[in-house]
Amino acid sequence: MTRVVSCPHCGKSVEWTSASRYRPFCSERCRLIDFGAWATEKYCVPVTEDKDQPEDAAPGTPPAIP
Ligand SMILES: [Zn+2]
Repeated sequence: MTRVVSCPHCGKSVEWTSASRYRPFCSERCRLIDFGAWATEKYCVPVTEDKDQPEDAAPGTPPAIP
């Protein structure tokens, strides 16, 4: 009995066997894309937060609340 899973990236059926070396992904490409997206997201988060900080905001100024 062979267990079949869906590739987390493209949804393609992948047989859960030793022959599927990239499981749960269907291929090396899907695995790399998914890992790359995760790594990029993790890397970009602190950078994005730094850029969101206004550099010209005067210290002690209360935030504008509509
Ligand atoms: Zn895939």
